[in-house]
Amino acid sequence: MLHNELEGEELEEFVEQRLLTTTLEKAGNWARGNAFMPATFGLACCAIEMMAMVSPRYDVARFGFEAFRASPRQADLMIISGRVSIKMAPVVRRVYDQMLEPKWAIAMGACSSSMGVFNNYAIVPADKFLPVDLHIPGCPPRPEALMYGILKLRNMVMAKPDLGWRSRYGGGGTEEFDPK
Ligand code: SF4
Repeated sequence: MLHNELEGEELEEFVEQRLLTTTLEKAGNWARGNAFMPATFGLACCAIEMMAMVSPRYDVARFGFEAFRASPRQADLMIISGRVSIKMAPVVRRVYDQMLEPKWAIAMGACSSSMGVFNNYAIVPADKFLPVDLHIPGCPPRPEALMYGILKLRNMVMAKPDLGWRSRYGGGGTEEFDPK
């Protein structure tokens, strides 16, 4: 049946599936991608560069990502800024779990991506205990690199409506982290 021959419930379903939901989802992702609210916490030296990003010199407010939130309930972006010790990993995971969906995580720097210079028994890469959406290389990455990474994440969020919805779409890495 051609779509111009649809009537009643079939027509409503057709409109919902093809026009209304798609448009709202796109609008939502546009808004989310242009106004990330990162959780306020830092782990190591990379955090200094993250803090510099909001200074007038780098001015991340140009892009709308400057509103760091003190409560994970109000944050939708976790920037893992530095090396994570095996004792700290459950704490970081707890903060991540307290953030509402949709939410995203960035591993900033060599340590949180691959343990970097602290490659020893006490350090764990971020993607071993939570789902990381983007890795930013460097030791430390400069504020410009972090801003570039967040802009890349924005493009990913706007292109992929499923990204960030862990429970709805069953994203990987959401299982309980057990450091033992
Ligand atoms: Fe520090 Fe370099 Fe590791 Fe960042 S990547 S936490 S700057 S050692």
